[in-house]
Amino acid sequence: MRNLETAGIENINCREEADLIIIGAGPSGLFCAIKAAGSIHNKNKHYSRIIVLEKKGTPGRKLLISGSSRCNITHSGDIQEFLSHYGEHSRFMRPALLSFTNRDLVSFFAEKGLAMIEEESGKIFPATGRSRNVLDILVRECEAHKISLHSDQKVLSLSKKEHGFEDRFGHWIEHGFEAITEDGFYLSPLVVIATGGCSYPATGSSGDGYRFARALGHNIIEPGPALTPAYIKDYPFRELAGISIPDVQVSLQHSETTRTNCGDILFTHEGLSGPAILDFSRHIMPGDTIRLSIIPPERRPELEAWFLKRTEEMGGKGLKTLLEDLPPAFCRSGQSIPGRLIAKILEISGIPAELKGAQLSRHLRITLFNNLTGLPLEVARLGGWDIAMVSRGGVDLGEVNSRTMESRLVKGLYLVGEVLDVDGDTGGYNLQAAFSTGALAAGSIAKKLA
Ligand SMILES: Cc1cc2nc3c(=O)[nH]c(=O)nc-3n(C[C@H](O)[C@H](O)[C@H](O)COP(=O)(O)OP(=O)(O)OC[C@H]3O[C@@H](n4cnc5c(N)ncnc54)[C@H](O)[C@@H]3O)c2cc1C
Repeated sequence: MRNLETAGIENINCREEADLIIIGAGPSGLFCAIKAAGSIHNKNKHYSRIIVLEKKGTPGRKLLISGSSRCNITHSGDIQEFLSHYGEHSRFMRPALLSFTNRDLVSFFAEKGLAMIEEESGKIFPATGRSRNVLDILVRECEAHKISLHSDQKVLSLSKKEHGFEDRFGHWIEHGFEAITEDGFYLSPLVVIATGGCSYPATGSSGDGYRFARALGHNIIEPGPALTPAYIKDYPFRELAGISIPDVQVSLQHSETTRTNCGDILFTHEGLSGPAILDFSRHIMPGDTIRLSIIPPERRPELEAWFLKRTEEMGGKGLKTLLEDLPPAFCRSGQSIPGRLIAKILEISGIPAELKGAQLSRHLRITLFNNLTGLPLEVARLGGWDIAMVSRGGVDLGEVNSRTMESRLVKGLYLVGEVLDVDGDTGGYNLQAAFSTGALAAGSIAKKLA
């Protein structure tokens, strides 16, 4: 830490007091500030001082790259359906999502002049296709509400001010917090940790919030990369990199538990990606087995019957050609299996592609059906922090009040966004979680400041 006396910072006199300090200018922190200020100003109380401290030179860096810079801000659907996209944490998310819904989020931006469009998949994006427009509105709203946004202010530590402090009006504040940055220290009776998780650390979210929460007594559920590809041991699909297969059933065996998911998969150079894998990644561990069902397992009897009939009729045909005639209806997507994938499944099954249908032994036929309906692939590792879209793990939800986002352990401390042990599926669920938890905390904070 820089020596405060020699740092030469004059304008903040190395000490600032506020009514509310928010650490982190990502979507959860900015929105919390805007909503808190909005509620207070609606009650004609203009005196509250809200400071947002941001480590980076500019706010919202992760927001800018979200959705390939198009910002998949939320998803359509009613909240009941929405809740199923937060793994085991839907119960915790319920009050936040009910109090500020996907529709509320769309209306908020529409009122500020940014319309949203819904894609066929249900994903919602700004109609302009630019995340920059979302961030610009958030920053503009901060300015409109006189929120002080301090960039290049990395918070180094956050602690309770045990013996209280005197605020700028000379009032004695019994309980408060001290956030120390390289340039000075900030005091406030209320503080929000909105520092995000650990993924894409270059955007500024590198796990600092876990440290702050832990120092204040919170338990941190071990963070790990999520919404990330799975790298496969002895990966057989390298030559298929870039090919995406729609609506594949994927099942995951982890110790005694088997989970199943359906969605698109994408073959990459080293492993599997695409929504079906990314959404599963929060559960995947190295050593687990993923089973890909190009054809759903329940259709196996039909598949066998079709195959036997086909070999009776045209047993002289090569197996690849024969399988290329497989009716698309066998696949969940209703689309035919690409020829290159059929050739690869035959190769993995130890069957020469030119072998005639009639020459296939019973043993190889069973292997082929097994692989078409549940090809086992062992996970070598998951994509790391530099490639994962979100973090699983974080501040233990049992220690946070889901109706206010206030810590159950430390009065006046709030936790919002990805720093919490909440991670959603791909499709806009994570940004909605950031906005909804930020808004919920703001409601509780505004009551305290009123
Ligand atoms: C490549 C990519 C694409 C994504 N696309 C989507 C998408 O399309 N839809 C979707 O729903 N989700 C998407 N996500 C996830 C989504 O962006 C995050 O879940 C969301 O940004 C979390 O918001 P947050 O406010 O909690 O944290 P963040 O956005 O991570 O913001 C935290 C802020 O806190 C600051 N900070 C951290 N430590 C300190 C400190 N010590 N002092 C001061 N400031 C600090 C950081 O610099 C950062 O600005 C994507 C993520 C990535 C990486």
